[in-house]
Amino acid sequence: MPSVRELLGTAVEGLGGTERTGQIEMAEAVSNAIRTGQHLAVQAGTGTGKSLGYLVPAIRHAVEREATVVVSTATIALQRQLVDRDLPRLATTLRSTLGRTPTFAILKGRRNYLCLHRLDTGAPEEPDDQSLFDPFAVSALGKQVRRLHEWAEQTSTGDRDELVPGVTELAWRQVSVSAKECLGATRCPVGNDCFAELARAEAGRADIVVTNHALLAIDALQEYQVLPEHDLVVIDEAHDLVDRVTSAATAELTSTMVTAAVRRCGRLIDQAITDQLAESAEGFGLVLDEVPAGRMDALDQPVEGALRAVRDAAHACITAIGPERRQEAEDASRRKLALALLDEVHDTAVRLLDAFDADTSQRYDVVWRSGEPAPRLPALRVAPLSVSGLLRERLFAQRTTVLTSATLALGGSFDVLARQWGLPPTSPAEPRPPEGTATAKAPPSDQSVPQWTGIDVGSPFDHGRSAILYVARQLPPPGRDGLPESYLDELASLVEAARGRTLGLFSSMRAAKQATEALRDRLSYPVLCQGDDATGLLVRQFADEQTSCLFGTLSLWQGVDVPGSALQLVVMDRIPFPRPDDPLASARQRAVEARGGNGFLTVAATHAALLLAQGAGRLLRSSTDRGVVAVLDPRLATARYGSFLRASLPPFWETTDPDVVRGALRRLADAAASAKPEAPSGSANAGPSK
Ligand code: SF4
Repeated sequence: MPSVRELLGTAVEGLGGTERTGQIEMAEAVSNAIRTGQHLAVQAGTGTGKSLGYLVPAIRHAVEREATVVVSTATIALQRQLVDRDLPRLATTLRSTLGRTPTFAILKGRRNYLCLHRLDTGAPEEPDDQSLFDPFAVSALGKQVRRLHEWAEQTSTGDRDELVPGVTELAWRQVSVSAKECLGATRCPVGNDCFAELARAEAGRADIVVTNHALLAIDALQEYQVLPEHDLVVIDEAHDLVDRVTSAATAELTSTMVTAAVRRCGRLIDQAITDQLAESAEGFGLVLDEVPAGRMDALDQPVEGALRAVRDAAHACITAIGPERRQEAEDASRRKLALALLDEVHDTAVRLLDAFDADTSQRYDVVWRSGEPAPRLPALRVAPLSVSGLLRERLFAQRTTVLTSATLALGGSFDVLARQWGLPPTSPAEPRPPEGTATAKAPPSDQSVPQWTGIDVGSPFDHGRSAILYVARQLPPPGRDGLPESYLDELASLVEAARGRTLGLFSSMRAAKQATEALRDRLSYPVLCQGDDATGLLVRQFADEQTSCLFGTLSLWQGVDVPGSALQLVVMDRIPFPRPDDPLASARQRAVEARGGNGFLTVAATHAALLLAQGAGRLLRSSTDRGVVAVLDPRLATARYGSFLRASLPPFWETTDPDVVRGALRRLADAAASAKPEAPSGSANAGPSK
């Protein structure tokens, strides 16, 4: 078997690229992690070619050991890039060197595939969506479901992401099932043709299985195996891992979920038993209406009573439905659908009640009442305070894990994120085990403490020469009531100097809209605002129209990839701390403080550092890009935590002088205008998280 270095050389040559030091360093580090079993965190800046940096050693391992390697991503955009571009090209390029064509597959949660059985039998009426009572919505839904039936005749994968344009969540729910609702391939009359089962079977045979963090989390959370057997997992976009795993481990309870469970029980059990569940749903809804939105630190008596009633009534229904027996597929399907929802209702009520058992400082879960505006009904949500224990036990203790992203070292250290992942802090990095031995795995006695190494392979970009970090130190600190006039003046003058070419990243949609309106009044450059159209179309328009601006919020902070002179200025309105009333962040902060730590730095500043680095990462997308990252919030320069945040950003040249930055922007705009007109960008990409 050729060495990783040789294989990488073959791959780079075959793909028409050039050798990059960071990529070689990364590939060798991944290879070392595979050999030693020591987990690895790799920070690899934009332009490193990090997907090749891990795919080449992963493919080599899979082919040599006849093993499967799982690659997990946070966004659909990266998933698509791997499956549609990187892996097919690599497979062809490495075929002759490896002696066979490496294989790959994509695997998602069951809900993402069309369920042929549900398509045949129809969905049960789900009364939890208000739109089902609106005749226009019902006819729109009918059209979408008809379209789904037509699509079912043509698709070979049943994968929702291949349906363009997509359909609403409600329409998709009519033709899909969750893992718990599925009959199981052996009982299902169309199990042999099931898309989800075919995808699982294909994944089981593949060298590389591409999946997402949500499925990885479900695999860790469930007792049953979701992903094929694998001994190595590569987590790309690892900066998002904790949030995605937390989302997968979050549950919610609404009165309409309980009502839907009542409907699903239908004629399966005695009416008197379902009536009790219906009453508990009504009681829970009434009680929830009186609970203010926000974190709940104590369980008051009415909520406790309502939860107990829901729990007991759901349990009575589950008992009445009884154990599985030989039934026609249609009856078995009804039973499965009812039980899936009853179990969810029951288990969430139990979890909500248990969440308050211990003292506040000892609790595992955080509970809050959602504050979404009507028509969405209020919900009780419960989420884990930390996922570090879960990741340590169900991920790191099971298999070698490689985590990578352009942003993993916050404030210059991997330890901040390592703690959130459940890895012990280590600084400086552990020395590498001896090279060239058959195995250098850690002795078994060390199993309880995961061993890991963090490396930063840098970036081929010269950040200090290519970009400026400008902090508007002269502005007042941001207020609570929208953008102050001085912020709008500063923004307008920066955009004027850059002659458009600006990506505005705002901490709220309200601020993005306020800035859009103000700049449309003051300047002649087109200002696109997120929400005006599909985000992907707006990003393409922004990339194609050289002097346009694009303003928006969270998904733009992480998903925009516009190389060239259409993007020379990234402006952020404020340091993106979590909102003070964010239930999870505030509870996490309090838990750190209860242990004697600095809750603000550990939670709020870490959150802000990750987002700032992601936002700043939108600027330089190719080695010839030049530009400015401007942060209007003066606290980045003046506050004590400012140095931690700045140390989390790429090493830009820094200034607080507005004249210097405006001069630089004008020169860049002049250079862009005098350059030959650029071909419309083919690589503009918007990959908002899904
Ligand atoms: S096996 Fe499950 S997911 Fe597949 S068609 Fe049958 S019920 Fe649907």
